[in-house]
Amino acid sequence: MGGAKTDIKLIDENGLRFDGRKPDELRPIRIEANVLKRADGSAYLEWGGNKVIAAVYGPRECHPRHMQDPLRAVVQAKYNMASFSVSDRKRPGPDRRSQEISKIISEAFEHVIFTHLFPRTSIDVYMEVLQADAGTRCAALTAASVALADAGIPMRDLVSSCAAGKVQDTIVLDLRKEEDNFGEADMPLGIVPRTGEIVLLQMDGDLTLEEFNKTMSLATEACHKIYELQKDALRRKYGVTDDEDVQESVDAVAESVPDRQEEAEEAFEDEQEES
Ligand code: UDP
Repeated sequence: MGGAKTDIKLIDENGLRFDGRKPDELRPIRIEANVLKRADGSAYLEWGGNKVIAAVYGPRECHPRHMQDPLRAVVQAKYNMASFSVSDRKRPGPDRRSQEISKIISEAFEHVIFTHLFPRTSIDVYMEVLQADAGTRCAALTAASVALADAGIPMRDLVSSCAAGKVQDTIVLDLRKEEDNFGEADMPLGIVPRTGEIVLLQMDGDLTLEEFNKTMSLATEACHKIYELQKDALRRKYGVTDDEDVQESVDAVAESVPDRQEEAEEAFEDEQEES
């Protein structure tokens, strides 16, 4: 990003991209919910050349025990790239990049999950990238969000994610590998579509303020489209056909979940006094 030179014409004379897309066009996306029997919730997602599977377990007893929080569930997201997912074999096991991505995804979900309902537990979110073509953190976050809903974890909303950036002086949506490698900027974004809150924002490269605003609005608009695909995947799985039904049940959960924060804090204080 930002420096590497290429002879590939990433934007042609008609303003079209390397793969024929317009600057504001997403790659094709397909999402399927509930694809694994053993997990509490799961999802499979194909996004251009990316293939990601997400599995959710919990809320379950938190291990290691020192990680337990007496007031809320901890969200432990684990992003992993399979060795065969990239053109050069990726060395198996955790590295700095996957630890960083796991951390930011955990934090994004902590904002939407009603963690205070499940003190001392862990909600484990596994994301396996089977094939990578740039934008895998957005793909993993999007898939994991559907898997969390599939697991029945109470949340304020799904999280939807998409990147936008700059390639050969053009602001473009959803960069693929060549654009990511030889472009000038890449900015992954994750939002809570119902409220517009930002739960993930990173940037690799440089943008002027004006370019940043344009990139933000492109990515935000795309997140809303992806939100529809996520809901559609859940609707297809659970046979809900009416969009209003989905919105109603999301609203009902959000309203009916009691705020047990105070209750949990009191219980914690009592416990501290006793010990
Ligand atoms: N990539 C790779 N090997 C690695 C890490 C990344 O080939 O060890 C590729 C992969 O296609 C990935 C892309 O580089 O999707 C961009 O990686 P980045 O760190 O920007 O994250 P992403 O865009 O996938 O969220």
